[in-house]
Amino acid sequence: MIHVSEHSVTVVRLDDTSSAAREEIVLGVQGLLLARGVIVPNDCRDALWQPSEWKPGPAARTAVVEPVDWFDSFLDTANNGVDIRGERDVYHPVENDEAPRCAKCAAAAPASYTDSADWLEAWMTAGHEPGFTCDQCGWSGPVGDWSGQFGVLIGAPAVTFLNWPPCSPALITDIRGLLGGRTGIVVSHW
Ligand SMILES: [Zn+2]
Repeated sequence: MIHVSEHSVTVVRLDDTSSAAREEIVLGVQGLLLARGVIVPNDCRDALWQPSEWKPGPAARTAVVEPVDWFDSFLDTANNGVDIRGERDVYHPVENDEAPRCAKCAAAAPASYTDSADWLEAWMTAGHEPGFTCDQCGWSGPVGDWSGQFGVLIGAPAVTFLNWPPCSPALITDIRGLLGGRTGIVVSHW
């Protein structure tokens, strides 16, 4: 059996907002990506092959950092969709899983982060983003303010690019701006 490895990049809003506001944000992100031709509606959705509502558009090339030699095969590959979700969800790095680092001194996350999943459980059920204090310098911050792109995050709305080449920083900045509030990135691999 051949294992085809897949990856995704998710940009997620961490701060809570009303469902009306989330709906408006989703429309705003869709509008921007459609206007730039980065995405188009996926007219042949398939639960296993192409489950996303959106697929790469005619200008998808402008959304990536630099042309990659596998871009054409990427356009034909399985599961190259874009998901734009308005409901709160969990974004897990899967095989990339790596604890974030202190935003001030870059020390590793404390044992309370790495040795227990209670904070994640509480974040999922109670909805409050947990905070952690650095063992080394004493800095404290909500988990989304710690540095890294390989830790689990929860929030909404979120935009996920499935199996895309790396997106340009300018596009990511625009998406973060439209999501509003504090945002985070989860780079997943499975
Ligand atoms: Zn620190």
